[in-house]
Amino acid sequence: MNDCIFCKIIKGEIPSTKIYEDDEFLAFDDIRPVAPVHILVIPKKHIPSLMHMEAEDIGMAGRLLHKAKELAWDNCGKKGARFVVNAGRHGGQTVDHLHIHVLGGRALIWPPG
Ligand code: 5GP
Ligand code: ZN
Repeated sequence: MNDCIFCKIIKGEIPSTKIYEDDEFLAFDDIRPVAPVHILVIPKKHIPSLMHMEAEDIGMAGRLLHKAKELAWDNCGKKGARFVVNAGRHGGQTVDHLHIHVLGGRALIWPPG
């Protein structure tokens, strides 16, 4: 996707602070953090949102969650973390490339706005 910000980050066309990378996933710091730890974990495959996931993506989605929890243990510690996936305009999604927010480093309130 030529006009996708996160695809450009994957290609190195937009700089980011990388936390983790392998053939399938990239994790980097959110540019506008809302918690002391705010990491975005994304598949390198362009999928517009969780609501666009296909059955063929089920394996990837499991590995994505597993990577997110590893990053949470490493960066947020044993007090816990929050994993957020916004989807679509009503879901608060602003970048149309599937991503998990990994938030931590402080106690987070619930419910969200
Ligand atoms: P969404 O609202 O779609 O769930 O989350 C998108 C996130 O991407 C936002 O938290 C926003 O701060 C972050 N973001 C948007 N553009 C960039 C960018 O160019 N670099 C980084 N590192 N984060 C970005
Ligand atoms: Zn993309």
